[in-house]
Amino acid sequence: MCGIVGYVGSKEIGTRLIEGLKRLEYRGYDSSGLSIIENKQIQHTKRVGRVKALDAALPKNYLKARTGICHTRWATHGDVTEKNAHPHISSDQRFALVHNGVIENYLQIKQFLESKNYTFASDTDSEAIVNLIAYHFEKELEAPDSNRFLESVRKALLHLEGTFGIAVISKDYPDEMICARRGSPLIIGVGKNEHLIASDVNALTHCTQNVVYLNDNEIVHLTAEDFSISTISKVSVNAVIQTVDWDTSDAELGDFQHFMEKEIFEQPAALKNGMRGRFSDDGSTAFFGGLNIQPQELSQIDRIIFIACGTAWHACLIAEYLIERFARIPVEVEYASEFRYRNAPLDKNSLVIAISQSGETIDSLSALKEAKRKGYKTLSINNSVGSSIARECDGGIYQHAGPEIGVASTKAFTSQVMLCAMLALYLGRLRNLSYTDGCNIVKALKGLPKLVEKTLESKDIIQKVAKKYAHYEDCLFLGRQLMFPIALEGALKLKEISYIHAEGYPAAEMKHGPIALISEKCPSVFLTTNGEMFQKSMANIKEIKARKGKVICIASQDCELPEDAIDDLIQVPEAHEIIQPILMSIPVQLLSYYIALERGCDVDKPRNLAKSVTVE
Ligand code: GLU
Repeated sequence: MCGIVGYVGSKEIGTRLIEGLKRLEYRGYDSSGLSIIENKQIQHTKRVGRVKALDAALPKNYLKARTGICHTRWATHGDVTEKNAHPHISSDQRFALVHNGVIENYLQIKQFLESKNYTFASDTDSEAIVNLIAYHFEKELEAPDSNRFLESVRKALLHLEGTFGIAVISKDYPDEMICARRGSPLIIGVGKNEHLIASDVNALTHCTQNVVYLNDNEIVHLTAEDFSISTISKVSVNAVIQTVDWDTSDAELGDFQHFMEKEIFEQPAALKNGMRGRFSDDGSTAFFGGLNIQPQELSQIDRIIFIACGTAWHACLIAEYLIERFARIPVEVEYASEFRYRNAPLDKNSLVIAISQSGETIDSLSALKEAKRKGYKTLSINNSVGSSIARECDGGIYQHAGPEIGVASTKAFTSQVMLCAMLALYLGRLRNLSYTDGCNIVKALKGLPKLVEKTLESKDIIQKVAKKYAHYEDCLFLGRQLMFPIALEGALKLKEISYIHAEGYPAAEMKHGPIALISEKCPSVFLTTNGEMFQKSMANIKEIKARKGKVICIASQDCELPEDAIDDLIQVPEAHEIIQPILMSIPVQLLSYYIALERGCDVDKPRNLAKSVTVE
């Protein structure tokens, strides 16, 4: 959600800023803008809509500049208009600023500054920051000239309540940039005679693989040759330079039409990467290098609370079924946004696990901090090495699924589910799960990538089904037990990218309300395996058919379905129950993808949605 890229260096900004901004597009935004300094003046261009429009509007001199900042905005305060797009310029024209986040006390700051004759051109909270910096700059007359820029930003930040990632440039300091963060990610890209700043590592890897992740309440002063980090309260910080192992080609489309399509087909590789080196030599359990919790301590845990949002929350529901079943530890699944404000009473031996693809989801991060503050052990499962959540918790599991660009999560979801299954196995083997059961599960997990490949072969059948159902405006997704979270995920996927109204339910709940929706106009996607719930699922399918509802059945190959029982069938290979939810996810993803294509929707950038939700 929203993005920042900044540059100070000896090379021309040219493609560096715009290419960086394009690499942030996947996160979702509504407008964009860019500022440079030329001839000791700040110039800026802003556009509503796509970065393409901004790029086309940029005057030629911009590309030759040596210092600049740019932004993709996801509006929180003020309409989506050019005047509200970032960068914002201070009313004395001295500073330009881009901001990610929300300033909660901006109205008080604005009123104060207006009383001092500062003027405001936008309705945003962000403009209050840049004018506050200008105000403090005026007051910093005594500071040595070389420190005045940094000190005025620092002073301004001391007054802000809320969250921010900011980058600031000044016409009086044309070769410098000041950046800071609290609650919104910022990463320094370290190059040769150039430094970049970005809110997402993806926006840096076209220039450098060397990065420094900033922590909350840190401020950084950058020039082409050097940078120095300190806390907002003036304690200097040693920078740790890390190397990013993502390849730039990971963020390119190749032969695929959309990132979502590419990422669906990358799942066999993503799953293989996530399990690599994580099975014991005797083949009876899994292990994870970064948990930082001893097995003895883990075997004492008597409650696990999962916190997440959106798709990751569905992965948590599967974790609940699997951990309770295989490790017999009670599990609760909480929406991070509710948990963080709910003051839930937790037992002494509770473990809190956050799942977030980006590792930057603000609600999950805040919920995790709240759990930590109360003294609970915390872990995370996330896909972004060095992300805020990864750094905040006691230990965790990296997904190694590669960057996920499509807004609708696919490979990150199945990788999270697989890691939850491996965690259930690990915790189970620390308790009562037998050696033989452990070996069977390891075998099933090792065979998963091949079975996913096989499931992907049904793409043509699924595309045909999609064509048939793309014109409906409502749809139900139903399933029992482990198929229930996949029903929720299916409904979410369909509504996210095709804008069809869809609901997911445990199939037996149908009679408690949703059955009222069933008619020729509302088809149902029914998920079933040949497990102990099969006959009960068949009874639910009959109830739908009896009410003239169409049924698309996604079933494991060993299910015997009478021909007249359903309208369309999509089969997935039969498999151990622990991996069946992953196999079932594949047709659900492809169905949504092809339906969205049929409807002409922008699959990778669905309306109103952002990839990683970094504002509350
Ligand atoms: N709150 C700011 C605005 O509405 C920044 C939003 C963002 O993070 O893009 O302009």
